Amino acid sequence: MSETLEFQAETRQLLQLMVHSIYSNKDIFLRELISNASDALDKLRLESLIDKELDVDASDLHIAIEIDKDQRTLTVRDNGVGMSHEEVVSLIGTIAKSGTAELLRKLRESPEQQQRAELIGQFGVGFYSTFMVADKVTLVTRKAGEHHGTRWESAGEGTYEIEALDEAPQGTSVTLHLKPEDSEDQLFDYTADWKVREIVKKYSDFIAWPIRLGAADGPLNSMKALWARPRSEVADEEYHEFYKHVSHDWTDPFETIHMRGEGTFEYEALLFIPARAPFDLYARDGKHGVQLYVKRVFIMDDCEALTPRYLRFIKGVVDAHDLSLNISREILQQDRQIQVVQRRLVKKVLATLKEIKDKDSERYSAFWAEFGRTLKEGLLDDSENRETLLDLLLLPSTHAAEPTSLRDYVERMPEGQSDIYYMTGESRATVEHSPHLEAFLAKGYEVLILTDPVDEVWVEQVTEYDGKALQSVAKGQVDLGAEEIAPERSEGFAPLLTWLGTALESDVKEVRLSTRLTTSAACIVGDKDDMTPTLEKMYRAMGQ
Ligand code: ADP
Ligand code: MG
Repeated sequence: MSETLEFQAETRQLLQLMVHSIYSNKDIFLRELISNASDALDKLRLESLIDKELDVDASDLHIAIEIDKDQRTLTVRDNGVGMSHEEVVSLIGTIAKSGTAELLRKLRESPEQQQRAELIGQFGVGFYSTFMVADKVTLVTRKAGEHHGTRWESAGEGTYEIEALDEAPQGTSVTLHLKPEDSEDQLFDYTADWKVREIVKKYSDFIAWPIRLGAADGPLNSMKALWARPRSEVADEEYHEFYKHVSHDWTDPFETIHMRGEGTFEYEALLFIPARAPFDLYARDGKHGVQLYVKRVFIMDDCEALTPRYLRFIKGVVDAHDLSLNISREILQQDRQIQVVQRRLVKKVLATLKEIKDKDSERYSAFWAEFGRTLKEGLLDDSENRETLLDLLLLPSTHAAEPTSLRDYVERMPEGQSDIYYMTGESRATVEHSPHLEAFLAKGYEVLILTDPVDEVWVEQVTEYDGKALQSVAKGQVDLGAEEIAPERSEGFAPLLTWLGTALESDVKEVRLSTRLTTSAACIVGDKDDMTPTLEKMYRAMGQ
């Protein structure tokens, strides 16, 4: 019996935009289908290795592409892990990702095709890309270990049909009924063998499973695990396509890091820094990006044990040689060797960033704009690399419109300035208009302007840089080397101060004369150990 269900509203809108936005590079639908098939084969292999009782055939795992020129259909078939009925509904019928609404808004506002394509790609709506080339898509699947199958079909508009099948082959097949309008154009003729070969070679060569076309001998891809090959033998394009496969991103990575660890614990790591921050970077359920393999066998996605939280945006693969295949996430977190690997990966990533920063500051700024805020979290969590992280900071300051490094700040410090000054606040404008700055600017001292919420927290923990104290201009007594306030002056003001102190009793602890102002009459300062107003607001917002 077949049922007609409606796509979730966001899915429907995204599908619409997808079909009408991306004409320039429709070829990638095949890459997306192969990527999904490859993931499904990875999962099946792992399950069959761990669970010997599982009723599956893992003897010839592969991806098959079948073309029917008369019917104008293209099918991508795998004998992987498959999906249950519920999984088809939840995985294929909905886009349950945080940030979908935000993405849709941005998409509607982007006039440029290219921009839209990038936005969609960043979100990773792999399966739906089939509707760029097909006016109907049929998916048949059976989950490993189950006996019944599921058939799903849709024209990519408002609804899809779903039906239980008594039987179905192990794995998943996706059949595209290609759009008639594309049949005229050689460029989009996906029923042509050469076209399919070309796309597979270009985008999916490194896929570890054989990709077969029709009855042709031999796979279309060379199946070489990229991370196991020497760096000198891998072309940038190959790295980039591999990145897109593991990250589900559609744009080239910002940087590729390929490393190998030898000695007591052998591993290979192929890591990527994305060019753009994903939508869910700050989501509670946000994912870590590194996959764990053991001797070429895929073990898990989102391996938290391999990267600290503040480097969750790093994507890629770590292939560790000496782990057991059925290692659990919990055990991994405790594993000494994994901890050693993590430390090496962190050092390497930070060193790479430092190198980019030193060599090409413009390029580094682009990275910083995307991930700087995330990196700052490391100042709280990773005391071992604190010095390196401090050197990677780019912070806005009163010196210029562009942010500065702490090193450059220190180099500009005039004679007589011994501390590094900063002020936290909600925006650059609020900080710049604050009376707290006056005396510092008057003396020619530069003040860092810290407006990220996380700034409030790390400045509490990092007390110095390069032997110089980090000092808030809005807290405590600041010694600007101004002349002492003369005793007569203090005496003269005593009645006023006492009166103000009584009048404001419920709001302030003390009213005193200050040398920190030049033109403003008064300002409020916190005690050395007080929370800043922004931090107070943050805590209040969190209900504390
Ligand atoms: P992503 O691959 O980024 O998760 P997709 O839209 O490509 O997004 O696929 C959505 C989900 O559907 C996948 O995560 C997977 O769980 C499931 N899926 C898609 N294709 C297959 C397949 N061939 N075999 C098993 N599951 C699949
Ligand atoms: Mg996918």
